[in-house]
Amino acid sequence: MKEYRFPCSVSKKCGGCQLTNMTYEEQLSYKQAKVIRLLGRFGHVNEIVSTGRPFYYRNKVQAAFGRTRGGEIVSGVYQSSTHNIVKVDSCLLEDQRADAIIVTVRKMLREFGLTVFDERNQKGFLRHVLVKAAQGTGEIMVVLVTGTREFKSKNAFCEALIKRHPEITTILQNVNNRFTSLVLGEEEHVLYGDGYITDELLGKRFRISSRSFYQINYEATKILYKKVIEFAGLTGKERVIDAYSGVGTIGMLCADFAREVLSVELNKDAVADAKKNAKLNDLHNITFVCADATEFLTGFAREKEKADVVIMDPPRAGSTVQFMNSVCMLAPERIVYVSCNPETLARDLHWFVQHGYKVKKIQPVDMFPNTNHVETVVLLSRK
Ligand code: SAH
Repeated sequence: MKEYRFPCSVSKKCGGCQLTNMTYEEQLSYKQAKVIRLLGRFGHVNEIVSTGRPFYYRNKVQAAFGRTRGGEIVSGVYQSSTHNIVKVDSCLLEDQRADAIIVTVRKMLREFGLTVFDERNQKGFLRHVLVKAAQGTGEIMVVLVTGTREFKSKNAFCEALIKRHPEITTILQNVNNRFTSLVLGEEEHVLYGDGYITDELLGKRFRISSRSFYQINYEATKILYKKVIEFAGLTGKERVIDAYSGVGTIGMLCADFAREVLSVELNKDAVADAKKNAKLNDLHNITFVCADATEFLTGFAREKEKADVVIMDPPRAGSTVQFMNSVCMLAPERIVYVSCNPETLARDLHWFVQHGYKVKKIQPVDMFPNTNHVETVVLLSRK
């Protein structure tokens, strides 16, 4: 068999792409087999859908900054399970505009006499750069994560950066002076533009802040959301719950086809964005609650509320038994479960199947080409 060569020179050190030994077709078969292995016992698994574009899809790019032993300033990713930075100037998965901006920032540090953060003594200026690109509108956000609040020649720095990258629409400074592996700190200052970007997706507009969750593969998200809407089977009469709703994308796309939508999300920045987004899209039948999804649904079920459709899109760890128990008390006809982790999905589906629901459809989507991650949408209906 012909040997496949993944066109990246740092893939071993970086570890971000786990399927570098496979062609893209082989990756799709591998993911299909994985979903069948984990979820096949619940029913037929539809063929995985893909955008056919396995490269340059990541619209959110994060680079860590540091120095080599020789003193050279580098930016890139942490080598798996270490804090050594692997120098990455252009990554095959990342939006190419984002990568170019990060390289420019690195070069500009020297020109402006700015330092990089040193994790060992917790001193120095630039820690990370986060770039978010709205691929529907072309808007770009740059977040400079700094170890100190003080930012020498801040205005001149931003001006020079915009001059070299006029595609940037907003720049923020995020201060993170804590001993943490989290990228973003609490304190944030807008240095240029509005402090957020707005994307356009399936005819709706979505405002995104530095901290709110937004799907990282724009084209694949369109495929995913269309499946979610199809599975939700809305006729205009339903009360829909959109749990783990982020900036409200799924709920807002459903609002056109439902009586009312109730969205629940824990991250307050995402909820603030979601509320603005409803106005932006002139939607009046959607409400946003900022709460832990389990707590909110438990209270809602206790008040004997009902729902016709529950859409849930929890993080990798999956949902909680208490959340699922409350869902069952709302007695929706349909549950649409969106998951980025088929292992926890299998665990949660098992619970639903034991408690009165039947798995009707299983649809894998290739959201994260070249990595071993796979997204799945499942439709459940009441027995
Ligand atoms: N459905 C959205 C977001 C999915 S990501 C979209 O398609 O864009 C999962 C979301 O769950 C994140 O926004 C995260 O902030 C939120 N989240 C995590 N734990 C939560 C909890 N316990 N309760 C409610 N939301 C939670």
